[in-house]
Amino acid sequence: MILIFLGPPGAGKGTQAKCIAKEFNIPHLSTGDILRFQLENNNEQTKQIKKNMDSGQLVTDEILNSIISNRICQKDCNNGFILDGYPRTINQAIFLEDQLKKNSLNIDYIFEISIEDTIVISRINNRAVIEKRVDDSDVTIKTRLFKYYEDTKPVSNFYQKKYGLIYKTIDGNQKIEELNSKLLKLLKKHWFWLIIIYLLLTSAL
Ligand code: ADP
Repeated sequence: MILIFLGPPGAGKGTQAKCIAKEFNIPHLSTGDILRFQLENNNEQTKQIKKNMDSGQLVTDEILNSIISNRICQKDCNNGFILDGYPRTINQAIFLEDQLKKNSLNIDYIFEISIEDTIVISRINNRAVIEKRVDDSDVTIKTRLFKYYEDTKPVSNFYQKKYGLIYKTIDGNQKIEELNSKLLKLLKKHWFWLIIIYLLLTSAL
C-alpha cells in the first residue's frame, strides 16, 4: 500500500503516518526525520541542509529526490510505504510520478490534512517547548507556512486534479485517535476491496 500525506507543518501528518505504518506493517518515510538523521554527519552538504532546515527553507529537490528514489527501492518498501513530507514541490511530485511508473507502483491514497494557520502556529509553539526543534521558532514557523503555500499547496492541487478518486481532504482539527480510526477504517475497506478484486481476477484466469 502506498500512501502520501500532505498538509502544512504541524497538521499531524507524522502522527497519523506512524500509526498507520504500524498497523499495516509498512515503513513510514518522513523526509524531515531522514534529513535530521543525515545531519549527524558533519560535512559541507549537511551544513547547507541544516542551514535551510533551521531557517524554514526547503532543502533542494535534487537531494530529496535522490533520498526518496534510493529509499523506496529498499526491500522493506516491497509491500508499500507512507510518504510524509514528500513531495513538497511540483518538481518532486513529477519526479515521484516517474519513479512510481518505472517501478510499476500505484498510489493507493493521498491524504491532505487541512488545518488553519492559527492552529498550526499554536501547535508548533507547543512542540517547540517539548521537542526543542530549532526550526520551531516563531519566525521560522512563518517561513515554513509561507513555503507551504508557495511550493506545497500546488502539489495538493496537482494531485487533486490527477487523482480525484483517491484524494481525500481531512479535517486536521480533531482528536488524534478520532482521525486515526477514521483513516484506518477507510484504508481497511479499501484493502478489503482490493483483495476481492484480486481474487475475482485471479479466479477468472
Ligand atoms: P514539518 O512538516 O513540521 O515542516 P518536517 O520534519 O517534515 O517538518 O521537515 C523539516 C524540514 O526539512 C523542512 O522545513 C525542510 O527544510 C526539510 N524538508 C523535509 N522534507 C522536504 C522536502 N520534501 N523538500 C524539501 N525540504 C524538505
